[in-house]
Amino acid sequence: MLRSVLIIFLIISSYLFGATKLVEQKWQKGKTFLNFLEEHKMPLKLYYDLDTGDKELTSEIIAGTRYQILQNDNGDIEQVLIPIGEELQIHISRDKDSGKYFINLLPIIYETKDKILKLDIKTSPYYDIVKATSNHLLANEFIQSYRNSINFKKDIRKGDKLVIIYRQKIRLGRQLGNPIIEASMVETGGVKHYIYRYKGRYYNEKGKELEGFFLSQPCRYTRISDRFSYKRWHPILHRYRAHLGIDFSAPVGTPVHAAGDGRVIFAGRRGGYGNCIIIRHVGGYKTLYGHLRRFARGIRRGKYVKKGKTIGYVGSTGLSTGPHLHFGLYKNNHAINPTSTIKVAKSILRGKAKREFLSYVKKYNDEIQVALNEKATPKKEETFAFYMDVNRVKTSN
Ligand SMILES: [Zn+2]
Repeated sequence: MLRSVLIIFLIISSYLFGATKLVEQKWQKGKTFLNFLEEHKMPLKLYYDLDTGDKELTSEIIAGTRYQILQNDNGDIEQVLIPIGEELQIHISRDKDSGKYFINLLPIIYETKDKILKLDIKTSPYYDIVKATSNHLLANEFIQSYRNSINFKKDIRKGDKLVIIYRQKIRLGRQLGNPIIEASMVETGGVKHYIYRYKGRYYNEKGKELEGFFLSQPCRYTRISDRFSYKRWHPILHRYRAHLGIDFSAPVGTPVHAAGDGRVIFAGRRGGYGNCIIIRHVGGYKTLYGHLRRFARGIRRGKYVKKGKTIGYVGSTGLSTGPHLHFGLYKNNHAINPTSTIKVAKSILRGKAKREFLSYVKKYNDEIQVALNEKATPKKEETFAFYMDVNRVKTSN
């Protein structure tokens, strides 16, 4: 932490004294990593020398992501940082002596903050949450979590209250990834409704799971050849890797099914994912199916599909070392781990799990009560547009 502060200080001071210039830009929709290199006249070799997994990963840069470029006096790019997923960032650096560029993946430095938001609802929960926190994703998640229990258009009256206990990753003063709501309460017409998160799912106070977003298995597979990770240290390659989906190995031609009801918003070739289908579901979710051999008949953009519908067939198109389905899940455009979402039925907690759950309920209810008695709401996050997020200016490995 101290080191990162020191380096940020160094970068800012060099920024202030004119030796270098730090530029922050937003990643445009449809832009590829190769486009980026071309645009900045950087060697395309940086991309071509990456291994298959890392090439695939570059397809995961989210449109709108803020990335940073550090230039020297002559306009040469000295460093680039492009966040990818919630834990890693592409780092390009230029060796001062040889002028050669190097690329690697570095961890993103972030803080995880536990926050409590308490509000008197004045306009609508969505509007008021955004107004208080500037956190659209938090507002979204809150509305979605009560989707089946409260009609926010009808049931909310002026003077109703809400409390949200949540966790948010913060990178340089900005929200990183999706917030996680641990517990929340909304009071409407004197009745309090509670939701608690337990092992990645939402339950009511009795330990009954609330209708969430459940996916079915997208294909029959022989094995899982790669799991989801935001950041993993590879002990042999000695570097960080990420895999923002699950790879299901299966023979070529195995049918691939829509994991949930939704609309096909993409069916075509997409970078490292080859023949790829993306389906948009309710609640800000999307699923991605990559490396398909071909699409099922009638599957095209705009088509509505039911859960279980065959949409394509396993193949090895794009960047793939063998036939498999790359299956990705996104919430509000951020990749999330599909594992806990693929399941068969709703659950009711019993036995030991129930006892543990009820102890959380007690703890959160106490926190909610304290928040209700307080007047203050949390401060909005500040933003720091001109800081560069590096933990190592030059990498040693
Ligand atoms: Zn994959």
